[in-house]
Amino acid sequence: TFSSSQLPPASGVRVVCRFRPVTELEKKKNEHSIVTHHDNTTFSLKLKDGGMQQYSFDRTFNSDEGQSVIYQDVAQPMVKDFFDGYNSTILAYGQTSSGKTYTVYGDPTLVIADSSDDSLESNEVYGIIPRMINEIFSQISKQQGITKSFEVKMSALELYQEKVRDLFNANKKNLQIKQSKQDGDNFYVEGLDQAYILSPQDAFSFINYTNSNRATAATKMSAVSSRSHSIVIIEMLQQNLDTLESKVSKLYLVDLAGSERLSKTGAEGERMKEATTINLSLTELGKVINSLTSGEGGYINYRGSNLTKILKDSLGGTSKTTLIIACSPTNGNEHETISTIAFGNRAK
Ligand code: ADP
Ligand code: MG
Repeated sequence: TFSSSQLPPASGVRVVCRFRPVTELEKKKNEHSIVTHHDNTTFSLKLKDGGMQQYSFDRTFNSDEGQSVIYQDVAQPMVKDFFDGYNSTILAYGQTSSGKTYTVYGDPTLVIADSSDDSLESNEVYGIIPRMINEIFSQISKQQGITKSFEVKMSALELYQEKVRDLFNANKKNLQIKQSKQDGDNFYVEGLDQAYILSPQDAFSFINYTNSNRATAATKMSAVSSRSHSIVIIEMLQQNLDTLESKVSKLYLVDLAGSERLSKTGAEGERMKEATTINLSLTELGKVINSLTSGEGGYINYRGSNLTKILKDSLGGTSKTTLIIACSPTNGNEHETISTIAFGNRAK
């Protein structure tokens, strides 16, 4: 049996930044873009106080760069890693309405159609997940044969106020996170359902179904804003039928809860409590990513939140991690954009 410890360690966390276009609503409010892109890594923000501040990431996507560009840069290399046996994580971080869901899934109103491969690739509404699914299954159909077999399973969960809810089995509302018996360093979600996936159509149905089970709550920022973290897990077993060698790899695709500060949404009471736990998971995630990238190689504490426990076997070690920082380009969001960029900068 193949063990991921045979793989060379991954080199840190890749951090990319995506600016969405100015929305119709922002235009109506006479907001404007404060972003100037210098090249495909570096940009400047024109601040309220008149100053300019320059930043750079491993890659910065401007508002004109579409879904296929993001896919090719961020996700496609991870499909190769996935077949090579690596665990990978893609995380989308940013304030509500910055484009996280658009990037990870696609247009938020989207229901993934049973479309053919070609129409999916050229269709701007589709984000990373449907494109990855497409490519994984096209690779499988190329590679499988009398000497090689594949098995794909998917699961989806939502983390809301530190509670884990199974999105494939909505009755399971408070799953526990347990320490793995085989490998005491890792954690697993006890009782999380997995669906066997035989085709891209199966996978799209799975995504549409689990998305329909996501909790949403209205805030002043956005009519339907996600106050929870959502995680889609794709697990693949590859077996060489000649040598009986096998390898398992996992992909975690994470649409994080909005990172905005409470003041702006005017949240109170229940919303306030919600924000504290949302920030707990985000703060702990930030700490883990910082220790992974600080290069000090010291002890990394994954136990601080359920999010970091769940992601542990795919964050650090030999796993590949890409953090996508999603930003609004407008003056009205300057404060949140700067705080999002700061989170991304600490992860570099
Ligand atoms: P979040 O998940 O961060 O709250 P959404 O993904 O829902 O944000 O995006 C907010 C709005 O902006 C949606 O209407 C979405 O369709 C639109 N949007 C986001 N990113 C883009 C983009 N790159 N191109 C076009 N529209 C986008
Ligand atoms: Mg969203």
